[in-house]
Amino acid sequence: MTALTPEALRTTAATQQESAAPATEAVREAARTAAGLGYLIVGLHGVQEDGICTCQKGASCVAAGKHPRGRNWQNDPGTLTQFRLHADGQAALNLGLRLDARAPVPLVLLDVDTKHGKPGAGSFAQLEAECGALPEDALLQMTPSGGRHYLLRLREGVDPRALPNRADVLPGIDVFTHQRQFVLAPSRTAVGAYNFANRPILRPILGSYSDSSTCCPPPP
Ligand SMILES: [Zn+2]
Repeated sequence: MTALTPEALRTTAATQQESAAPATEAVREAARTAAGLGYLIVGLHGVQEDGICTCQKGASCVAAGKHPRGRNWQNDPGTLTQFRLHADGQAALNLGLRLDARAPVPLVLLDVDTKHGKPGAGSFAQLEAECGALPEDALLQMTPSGGRHYLLRLREGVDPRALPNRADVLPGIDVFTHQRQFVLAPSRTAVGAYNFANRPILRPILGSYSDSSTCCPPPP
């Protein structure tokens, strides 16, 4: 039987920190990349090795590893410096990307949800049949539960505030445009890690996005 000495505890803590370190460093690297490309970023709570959120709610948190650490994230500068205020020294952390209509290049998130039998895939197929397919190079992130995040840049002159900014715009499809954030690869939750399906890393938001689709469901 192993004695629970302070030394043993210290060793266990050090081992846990060591095994979490590569994942955490990958998240920090992604934050540097995203901020360098001009995205607004958010420092999120992470999950511990047992999948429990690092926030005060712990096991009772219903958004484990998915919510901001700071209270004022919707109005803070969204920079790497701001991210580091919340992330430095943390053994488990995640990265969020912030959507804001006031950003130099406003972005739209189309979230296709298929977990727990949600009909996002069917709704998305219907949407593409009606509006045309999204560009093949639309930035696509896969969520750990099998969902799809399409990150789109609107055509010049389209105000994101004219679009819906809510869940279930169609069954299983969320559209978020303003004062929202979503978890960005390679962040992880208890289910697994987020990852990019078609690009190993983020791309610049200025430039190559100009042809991205304006195909979003109209406001109700
Ligand atoms: Zn939490």
